[in-house]
Amino acid sequence: MKTYDAIVIGSGPGGYPAAIRLGQLKQKTLCIEKDQPGGVCLNWGCIPSKALISTAHLYEKASHSAVMGIKATVELDPNALQDWKEGIVKKLTSGVRSLIKGAGSELMAGTATITGPKTVEVTLADGSKETFEATKGIIIATGATTIEIPTFKFDGKQIIGAKEAVSLREIPKRLLVIGGGIIGLELGMVYQKFGSKLTVVEALPNILTGVDPDCAKVVERRILKLGGTIHTNARALGYERQADGSLLVKIELDGKEQTIPCDVVLVAVGMRPASKGLGLERVGVHIDARGFIPTDKAGRTNIPSIYAVGDVSGPPLLAHKAMKEGEVIADVVAGHKVEKDWVTIPGAIFTDPEIATAGLTEAEAVAKGYEVTVGKFPFAALGKAMAMNETEGFVKVIADKKTKQILGFHIVGPDASTMISEGALALEMAAFLDDVAMTIHPHPTLGEAMMEASAHALGAAIHIANR
Ligand code: NAD
Repeated sequence: MKTYDAIVIGSGPGGYPAAIRLGQLKQKTLCIEKDQPGGVCLNWGCIPSKALISTAHLYEKASHSAVMGIKATVELDPNALQDWKEGIVKKLTSGVRSLIKGAGSELMAGTATITGPKTVEVTLADGSKETFEATKGIIIATGATTIEIPTFKFDGKQIIGAKEAVSLREIPKRLLVIGGGIIGLELGMVYQKFGSKLTVVEALPNILTGVDPDCAKVVERRILKLGGTIHTNARALGYERQADGSLLVKIELDGKEQTIPCDVVLVAVGMRPASKGLGLERVGVHIDARGFIPTDKAGRTNIPSIYAVGDVSGPPLLAHKAMKEGEVIADVVAGHKVEKDWVTIPGAIFTDPEIATAGLTEAEAVAKGYEVTVGKFPFAALGKAMAMNETEGFVKVIADKKTKQILGFHIVGPDASTMISEGALALEMAAFLDDVAMTIHPHPTLGEAMMEASAHALGAAIHIANR
């Protein structure tokens, strides 16, 4: 039996940074992957979807830029788009391979199961098995898998999940999305811009539950403006295939049944942790009712030599959270005295416009007992946003009324995903409104909205009226 210091199961955004960091720390490390390296994020999640999103943005902008002096007739070539996107995926996944190797760790193709507190069995493609020992720790980084609705079994063509939705080589005429969450709206809006008639069916009273409702409203308005339909409080019951191959989806809306004709259904009702089939029950690793593997601040499960990072260890299911956990837990396994310790895990939703958040929403801050002050600055009042012809949205800052300490930033607007890092840094550094308001932000930039919103909360914004 070959012995390593550490074994990492999975090479997604949780696993590959762990394997790289362990290698950097001179730990003999084996990373086991049953599919392509890079996990959901690189293969069919974050990166492929962003390639499609940036293309859809460019396509739509070019098509509607007469006001900016561009009269263009644009035409989409879905095959070229897919080829380009697949090239990016290939570059990044082979990059992961080289980075792991370059750091001195090994990447092995195979399916891992944990057979003891320090042993892992790997089944190779030819069915043969090998067992390895990890003297310092096993890190589970197996991620999450798409949830399927029993009445909408995936067929890979007309009933699809996000994995297939980023690989379509034909734009559906009518796309029905079940689930008005992040994936449903990010990808729904892509195809909407490419010409699909979009219908969103969401079970809850609002789309993007958990996001600042004012931010979600801006995206909702945009979907409607682009000709889409959103049904909230709606349940998708099932579908019938019509003679012409199209689908008739049955939904329950306000207690009544309705049918919606469409060509493709994207099911985007969430992801579940990939904790099954790993041998965890046999070894005695605790799994909670939802399938997540609970860990402490050092990433340890109830079995001290077994750790878990990323989606499989609990929400939020975000690549950047997995990456940071992978790095930190690699340090723990290498014997360093560190633990997970952050003020905020920012979020970025790549709808149009983008939504990005860090820290508490107004409602969450109030529920925690804060008396809050809120500053808000609309992009419509910002020169740079006007110059980009992208003036929808705003920056909102939530602060403690007494101390003026910043509690949260919520942005909906152009490039919100980039701007939120300033908000996350402000929260990590326990910044006050003055810190952001008094920092000179270059002009003209979108980032000025962060400064102006903070100044607005202090009654000192320059480019809008203060209350
Ligand atoms: P989600 O949890 O964001 O949204 C799922 C939505 O489906 C919810 O609004 C839920 O109420 C609704 N729903 C559930 N069952 C339903 C039903 N039967 N009928 C109608 N609606 C139903 O999940 P997602 O969009 O599938 O994304 C999965 C995970 O991936 C999320 O946890 C998300 O954090 C992550 N993700 C993040 C990003 C990003 O950060 N930009 C992008 C993609 C995915």
